[in-house]
Amino acid sequence: MSLTRPTPADLEKAIRNIPDFPKPGIQFKDITPVLADARLFSGSIDLLTERFRPGDVDAVVGIDARGFIFAAAAAVKLQAGLVPVRKQGKLPYRTHEQQYNLEYGTATVAVHVDALKPGSRVLLIDDLLATGGTAAAAAALVRRLEARILEISFLIELQFLGGRQKLQDYPVRSLIVY
Ligand code: AMP
Repeated sequence: MSLTRPTPADLEKAIRNIPDFPKPGIQFKDITPVLADARLFSGSIDLLTERFRPGDVDAVVGIDARGFIFAAAAAVKLQAGLVPVRKQGKLPYRTHEQQYNLEYGTATVAVHVDALKPGSRVLLIDDLLATGGTAAAAAALVRRLEARILEISFLIELQFLGGRQKLQDYPVRSLIVY
């Protein structure tokens, strides 16, 4: 079965806006309709990886939790490894941790100390770029392991939150911009 490739506009039409989730004032971008549609899901992976061929990337780093879904499929497509950056307390082995600021308070992400070899070429993926704190913290962990970030890719960017400013050291791509 061969599927015609969707455009970012096709993906955008499928993304569902959930007002006031998980708290009042947040417009949650629900990507599950993209995942549930074979053409849209596989097309989203084609678009997220389109600048690379197998052999270009050593590891795809995915951010907890929806980032894992896209990163895992991208890793298979690019014949690369998959490395999870997880919320604090989830990874079983020794970790490096990076704290970042939320609107109220702080959060911490972690990566296994041996997850990436120095010099390895990394594609970092998450579902959505909002204020950029999460992706910047994940990028800092990748750098702490002395790996090289080729690109940071998102399905969705909420441009009005200015997250790109925290990622100025890296090439950043997003498929859908609000
Ligand atoms: P930030 O650190 O502010 O860039 O937030 C990005 C992280 O929070 C990503 O892992 C997203 O999955 C999640 N996130 C933030 N805002 C939203 C939103 N409006 N809809 C869905 N996910 C969001």
